[in-house]
Amino acid sequence: MTDLTRRRFVAVAGTSLVAVSTVPLFAPRAFGQAKPKLVVIGGGPGGGTVARYVNKDSAGAVEVTLIEPQRNFTTCFFSNLHVGGFRDFKSITHTYDKVGREGIKMVHEAAASIDRDKKEVVLAGGRRVPYDRLVVAPGIDLKWDSVPGYSEAAAEAMPHAWKPGSQTQLLVKKLNALKDGDTIVMICPPNPYRCPPGPYERISMFAHVLKSKGHNRSKIIALDPKETFSKQALFMEGWEKHYPGMVEWQDPKVHGGIKSVDPKTGEVKTDLASYKAALANVIPAQMAGRIARDAGLADASGFCPIHPESMKSKMDANIFVVGDACIPGDMPKSAFSANSQAKVAAMTIRGELTGSRTFPARYSNICWSLIAPDDDVKVGGSYEPGDGKLKAVSTFVSQKGEAADIRKQNYKESLDWYAAITADVFG
Ligand SMILES: Cc1cc2nc3c(=O)[nH]c(=O)nc-3n(C[C@H](O)[C@H](O)[C@H](O)COP(=O)(O)OP(=O)(O)OC[C@H]3O[C@@H](n4cnc5c(N)ncnc54)[C@H](O)[C@@H]3O)c2cc1C
Repeated sequence: MTDLTRRRFVAVAGTSLVAVSTVPLFAPRAFGQAKPKLVVIGGGPGGGTVARYVNKDSAGAVEVTLIEPQRNFTTCFFSNLHVGGFRDFKSITHTYDKVGREGIKMVHEAAASIDRDKKEVVLAGGRRVPYDRLVVAPGIDLKWDSVPGYSEAAAEAMPHAWKPGSQTQLLVKKLNALKDGDTIVMICPPNPYRCPPGPYERISMFAHVLKSKGHNRSKIIALDPKETFSKQALFMEGWEKHYPGMVEWQDPKVHGGIKSVDPKTGEVKTDLASYKAALANVIPAQMAGRIARDAGLADASGFCPIHPESMKSKMDANIFVVGDACIPGDMPKSAFSANSQAKVAAMTIRGELTGSRTFPARYSNICWSLIAPDDDVKVGGSYEPGDGKLKAVSTFVSQKGEAADIRKQNYKESLDWYAAITADVFG
């Protein structure tokens, strides 16, 4: 008897032989029993992918509920291309209409808390949603006080745009209102944060817009709490090539420490200098979304430890954490990673709830960054469980001085990836 046949037999043990031939492999363990319930908190690339994969692959054998307050999801990924004028806002905004039509129960309300003892999610309106397995994928929260003077209110004057939607629109509005000679100041985030190359791709897009408008006297000052950053050599080469003299990146040895921001005056102070920013883009430190932290799923780092074989929380065997909220070991926090982690979680959940076959966990990530039109660089890797974490087994990165057609091909790949991942998450 093959593994699959044996599982099918076990799954329907106690029922008639006729039932054996008609009941699918992923049937719930016994007739008369209610369908097992999967509840997913967060409809981004992490949560959305788990919900759709479990729903599709279990063909209705698992009841899937997706809790996501937003009706329209604007992606952070490719929001930099919107900043640069390469994509319109509509093209990076997606609805859950198809997801709902596929049979997933959409709940457009925030989850307020998780009652882990009763295995129930409590919605903001008070309703309780029971689960057999829960996926927590709320993305990140910003640590407002990590930059002195910054706050949620200050973000209306000095946008972070590290959570998408109105913040991205505000950033673009301010960028487009700049005059020649104005200064942009970006405060880059400390590790770990979502999308390691993201701030530097955004700097490139700022520079592209300034250059396109002939604002050659304007400057972009990047104040970084880190000494190095992702794809640094590639970005620096690209800035020098496309925007000579426009971008000034300062590490802590140069600026001596980021002291304060003043949203009223636009002043940004470091230990050694003071800048008057016509546009200040402040990207604070980050942590897992509140719902995950409040449920006791995070550790002292502010993010959620997981078992790398399954994406199961180390704090609760009935809960999985995927995407930016988890501690992904060597994997960066990216939409590509979240989608890859979600597929492992979906497979494991289906295995646990329906007895379907599972396979060893394998993960992958690629992050593309556009430096200038058709000049796109990439970094990526494959990951497996190892040393108690998601361990890199192979990595690659674009090279300096590459031929233009390679960079152009990278850009085309990134467009194809965006189309594929958004189809994966939103149908
Ligand atoms: C400027 C920028 C550029 C980027 N570029 C790229 C890129 O090119 N490639 C790439 O792979 N990644 C990129 N990223 C990173 C990528 O956007 C994130 O890694 C990805 O969105 C993480 O997915 P997630 O599902 O974990 O979280 P999110 O996408 O943040 O989704 C979380 C969802 O959970 C919901 N939620 C939160 N709390 C609750 C609650 N209590 N109840 C119910 N729902 C809740 C939120 O509304 C949200 O919809 C970029 C990020 C930024 C900021």
